[in-house]
Amino acid sequence: MSFESLGLSHNIIKSVRKLGFLKPFLIQEQTVPVILSGKDLMGIAQTGSGKTACFVMPILDKLQNEEVKKDRNIQVLVLAPTRELVIQIDEVFRAFTDNLKREIRTMAVYGGVSINPQMKGMFGVEVLVATPGRLLDLIDNKALSISQISHLVIDEADKMFQLGFEEEMNRLFSMMPATKQTVLFSATLNDKVEEIKSRLTIDPVVVEI
Ligand code: AMP
Repeated sequence: MSFESLGLSHNIIKSVRKLGFLKPFLIQEQTVPVILSGKDLMGIAQTGSGKTACFVMPILDKLQNEEVKKDRNIQVLVLAPTRELVIQIDEVFRAFTDNLKREIRTMAVYGGVSINPQMKGMFGVEVLVATPGRLLDLIDNKALSISQISHLVIDEADKMFQLGFEEEMNRLFSMMPATKQTVLFSATLNDKVEEIKSRLTIDPVVVEI
């Protein structure tokens, strides 16, 4: 199977080539068309499976066709449990923003560093990759709002619970709009991860590799 046959636009494929990806990984074949179609998705996949590109490619593809909103709120929110993962995911987004139809700004925010530069850098950001605690701090400081997101991604959902982010996640969920596309990735499927589905009232397509 080719990247073209997954339904991705030529400018996304241009970045794919630049990264040296020859053909999609199995998980990408099974998830990219689902995300492009607008359905909610739950992917069960390990780190190293190529799961990041599964959501980065179709989400940016769709976002580049959307009109820039005047108030320029965050459109895409990606939640991840650790600073390292947040930085990694943001780098993958950046690798795919070069050739898009319009400029899309992405930003990574995480704890353990000063909040001020993160607050100041928020202008015009459409894709935010964040750890839950720092995101709540930024929202409490009125640096941004997540009330108008169109896409939510939760990466390594099982680890979110292992690290004790349940309360933070529930607070964040209550600030999000009811209508949005949700993509969940988890290395394992357990009761806690199942619980997120009911809390977000979603019935996602499940892809397990
Ligand atoms: P991830 O699981 O998202 O952290 O990805 C693991 C590694 O696989 C990263 O170094 C990616 O750049 C690489 N990768 C992702 N998709 C492909 C692909 N289709 N072909 C080759 N490498 C890929």
